[in-house]
Amino acid sequence: MSKMGTLLSVENLWISYGAVEALRGVNLELGSGDIVAVLGANGAGKTTLLKAISGLLKIKQGQIFLEGNDLSRFLPFELVGLGISHVPEGRKVFATLTVEENLALGAYGVRNLPAGRDVGIRRDWVFELFTILKERRKQLAGTLSGGEQQMLAIGRGLISRPRLLLMDEPSLGLAPRIVQDIFRVIRQIHQEDQVSILLVEQNARKALAVSRYAYILETGDISIQGEARKLKDDERVRSAYLGGSGVK
Ligand code: ATP
Repeated sequence: MSKMGTLLSVENLWISYGAVEALRGVNLELGSGDIVAVLGANGAGKTTLLKAISGLLKIKQGQIFLEGNDLSRFLPFELVGLGISHVPEGRKVFATLTVEENLALGAYGVRNLPAGRDVGIRRDWVFELFTILKERRKQLAGTLSGGEQQMLAIGRGLISRPRLLLMDEPSLGLAPRIVQDIFRVIRQIHQEDQVSILLVEQNARKALAVSRYAYILETGDISIQGEARKLKDDERVRSAYLGGSGVK
């Protein structure tokens, strides 16, 4: 992991859903202050990887470490306290709660984050990142547009001051202008908050532009990995992920 200290380390990870082996011996590393992308086609196992890191799936074989801590020794809600925050696919916000209430839930159960003032500071910072959320702070999340819901899901993930942010397809199904906005914020949170980011994306071009390193998952295996700027010129990556109709 070059000069950076290792923050996340996934070692020989196997996950299965019954007979379906979704991950087959995945190895991955992410340094402190790093942005790493995981690319791959539908069904390659990207969401499974993020869910496993969040402690939501039973590990069949292998281990996941955050700064040397074996994550299997913690319950999913304890992982937020350790500094892991997950922005799930499909912007799962609480539709019947307001924007502010959704954001407050991002701090729920985080022991090291004194309630009140600190949560307020984090929330104000999220409002700076996404000014539209500030305008809509009293509005029910279910009435927001898809892009605004994605912003809210990201904002909620940031309230707990994570060290590692897991982002699952943040640009999926959004208009190009909103996608630009989301990627601007990914850069900004990395720079301003020193958050390390593991970014799952189908938009390979954008993901490679924003990350330092990337892994390509193919049916549960890492098939290609390398520096993002080198992968952009890799013939295998270009033909499968950057040139074809599958890339937006
Ligand atoms: P997508 O981009 O479509 O979300 P993905 O790369 O995130 O794809 P996963 O959702 O991780 O892929 O799925 C990996 C494999 O595991 C696929 O073959 C999928 O059909 C299977 N799978 C995922 N969730 C389940 C489940 N709950 N039960 C059974 N099989 C599942």
